[in-house]
Amino acid sequence: QLGRTGDALASEDAWLAHNYAPIPVVIASGDGAWLTDVDGKRYLDGLAAYSAVNFGHGNQRLLDVARTQLDRVTLTSRAFANDRLGPFARRLAELAGTEMVLPMNTGAEAVESAIKVSRAWGYRVKGVPADRATIVVANGNFHGRTTTIVSFSDDPTAHDDFGPFTPGFRSVPYGDGSALEAAMDETVVAVLIEPIQGESGVIIPPDGYLHSVRELCDRFGALFVADEIQSGLGRTGATFETARVGVRPDLMTLGKALGGGIVPVSAVVGPASVLGVLRPREHGSTFGGNPLAAAIGEEVVAILEEGTFQARAAAGESVLRDALDALVGHGVVGYRVAGLWAGIDIDPALGTGRDVSLRMMERGVLVKDTHGSTVRFAPPLVVTDDELHFALGALADTLRGR
Ligand code: PLP
Repeated sequence: QLGRTGDALASEDAWLAHNYAPIPVVIASGDGAWLTDVDGKRYLDGLAAYSAVNFGHGNQRLLDVARTQLDRVTLTSRAFANDRLGPFARRLAELAGTEMVLPMNTGAEAVESAIKVSRAWGYRVKGVPADRATIVVANGNFHGRTTTIVSFSDDPTAHDDFGPFTPGFRSVPYGDGSALEAAMDETVVAVLIEPIQGESGVIIPPDGYLHSVRELCDRFGALFVADEIQSGLGRTGATFETARVGVRPDLMTLGKALGGGIVPVSAVVGPASVLGVLRPREHGSTFGGNPLAAAIGEEVVAILEEGTFQARAAAGESVLRDALDALVGHGVVGYRVAGLWAGIDIDPALGTGRDVSLRMMERGVLVKDTHGSTVRFAPPLVVTDDELHFALGALADTLRGR
């Protein structure tokens, strides 16, 4: 007898492809910023499903909307219109200060869609010769797992053995305006960038970088595509990280929290002059824009319009900073924080990011390593200051070996 946790872990190990190496905790329920495992032990959630649960587990407003819609209609496909999609698209476009929405399901699909739209725009509007369109991306990027997207990943575990790869991408160092300038030419249809690189360890570009991306895209007649799938929708203290720094991309990809942690909802948003290049039957998705997704997505937009979660993330930032400042030199060698989003570099002498994550689990805090010695912390935005102190206290104790 392995016990409930052991049984569940053994059955995942036996029956699932081993494409994840999960922290060995088995979640049975969630509430706000907290998760409870199958044995009744509670943990503070320091990951929020990679920022898909920004508004908390079991958010009552979102659940109510979902329940109501479950009883009406859940899936129509876009062979027919449904009464939830138009209102959702209008509010989302207005929230983003733009004109059109292309609804999809997962983040990777939104990025794939933005790539296709950028290429079609390049040929039909910019006049790039057939099959010559180039998209410039950044080293260290993470945009998803499809074959085209991993074609331009420089993370060997995401990339190697999955070729042959899709051509048409050029990768430059992240945060370096001169390197980007050198990569621009008349074939470039888009620059696809994360405003903050999440999976890379919460890498924040230097001040002015996103402005230079905007300026170079204008100068070379290319689209600025901001992947806000992880940085957007409240995490950094703003609705969109690009808006926080005062830059307007042409297209944004959104996902994760757009589905309120309930269903997968993603989208590309942008002006009619760009998204309008798509013609009927050129692109689509059976589930994209379904009425359940649209109902939940519209309520997510309503929540974001109120701004309370963005304000909470902005206020939590200083609590995180103060706590992490005190840990630098005591097991932490460096950190980056944007709102309630931290990449914390652990002294390798004390163990890997995974070792630290496992020890944090013992202390009732669930976090996830990324790239060797970095631990990422991104709790649901309902987290209180006391809960932040609890989590950072657990990190301090873990690093002290207490
Ligand atoms: N883009 C960014 C910036 C992401 O962080 C992620 C996921 O972590 C994705 C795209 C892919 O999203 P999904 O896992 O929903 O396909």
